[in-house]
Amino acid sequence: MDMLINGTAAHAAEETWIEVKNPATGEFIDRVPRGSREDVNAAVEAADAAFGAWAEKTTRDRGLILYHAAALIRRDHKALAELLTREQGKPIRESTDEVRGCANILEYYASIAGMPAGENISLGKAGDCLVTRVPLGVCGAIIPWNMPVIIMGWKVGPALLAGNTLVLKPASATPLTNLRIAGLMQEAGLPAGVLNVVTGPGEITGAALVRHPQIKKISFTGDCATGYRIREMADSHLAALTLELGGSDPMIVMADADIPKAVEGALRGRFYNAGQICTAVKRLYLHEKIAEEFMRLLTAKTEGLAVGNGLAPGTDMGPLNSAEQLGRISSVIRETTEREEGTIRAGGCPLTGPGFDKGFFYKPTLIAGVAPDAEILNNEIFGPVLPVVTVPDLSAAIREANHSKYGLGASVWTRDLATVKQVYREVHAGIIWVNRHLTVPPEVPFGGTNESGIGRENGSKALDSYTQSKTLYLGW
Ligand code: NAD
Repeated sequence: MDMLINGTAAHAAEETWIEVKNPATGEFIDRVPRGSREDVNAAVEAADAAFGAWAEKTTRDRGLILYHAAALIRRDHKALAELLTREQGKPIRESTDEVRGCANILEYYASIAGMPAGENISLGKAGDCLVTRVPLGVCGAIIPWNMPVIIMGWKVGPALLAGNTLVLKPASATPLTNLRIAGLMQEAGLPAGVLNVVTGPGEITGAALVRHPQIKKISFTGDCATGYRIREMADSHLAALTLELGGSDPMIVMADADIPKAVEGALRGRFYNAGQICTAVKRLYLHEKIAEEFMRLLTAKTEGLAVGNGLAPGTDMGPLNSAEQLGRISSVIRETTEREEGTIRAGGCPLTGPGFDKGFFYKPTLIAGVAPDAEILNNEIFGPVLPVVTVPDLSAAIREANHSKYGLGASVWTRDLATVKQVYREVHAGIIWVNRHLTVPPEVPFGGTNESGIGRENGSKALDSYTQSKTLYLGW
């Protein structure tokens, strides 16, 4: 599949390719150009040329195009979901949710096309100020491989509605569905150059995009270490930044919780997308009164998950996305076992044998009896492994929940309002869920504190972040 530059399919300046393969089978799916700095320059030029006319359209006209694009995504959702499962690995049910989720996001932004609103400031005799919100110019979006379609929606929706033009850099493992959706956006009436997609390695095309002096804002989702490098590069020309980085979300289950519901929450929260989600449940804190019962139910459910090719009906969990991912998760378990940090209650090894030998499958894994200061809790585990800690009370749970460099999401499972209040006030996170985890509808701001990032995506605040104010001072 080719890149999309200035509304047309583009090869790389130098004709070399990146192969995209199915992580469940190793099957070759397609190839995309290994883009270069020249390709990024061409895309930024196209976006710059398209900016004036796009910014002059009404937000309503821009919103209508997003709305039409959402309709085309819905029309093609089956093919898009299948492509996403083939390149990413997740079960087709999850891919379908993700593709529909992207349409929901575009529709949401189309629906708030009356924004961003400005304001009038009366200065009495000295005059009046009219403050409007204007777009920034050419923006860059850098996407990871775990939720490429939703994250594309989070960036494309507000950036384009606000009147910016965009150059998007997908992850090399999952560029295909992003490119297909960009094509649908053209079909929906997006003028040439408004959305450009350049494929290629992060250190080359991604870095060239961030460093480009004409880029006014970068919205990046990915690893913390990459986020730090991006900040340095963007600072060199003062580009605005949204950084959505890693997370190590705690889930706290109190003694008064609805236990079966919380067990389902932990199962979905940890094993959805094979655990490769920034806001997955990555640390489970159980009140000691219910810990044993909870673990008995959770272990049975975890062992009952059907792991397999995401295209097969009935699959609950697909493969990890790459050999590197499989290697990382295997090392986490090996090192945790060597340090004797807990007891493996389910899984704990790769899934091998007929049907699994060409893919990157790991068994859904539970580790019980983990001490609060165990090494395994210090880093983000980006895969299907859940360490479980037993706590004596809420204060201990909150203290341990905050014992992390991250602060993306957190959940508390309880029926008690005072518990909710204390968790909401004291746990450091961008979102606190009560009796659920993971869900982030388009209206809800999403982003973290501490090393989980800066800025927010989703909701009307994200739209604001793609604009700046401009003031007309009327001295009567
Ligand atoms: P990654 O940082 O390796 O890659 C993300 C993107 O950045 C890719 O497109 C990559 O090509 C590009 N990139 C890599 N190096 C670059 C550079 N030097 N300059 C510019 N671009 C570069 O991350 P990943 O492994 O794809 O994603 C996994 C990480 O993303 C996890 O830590 C996860 O928690 C995080 N994540 C966060 C959120 C969130 O919203 N907070 C959402 C999803 C994933």
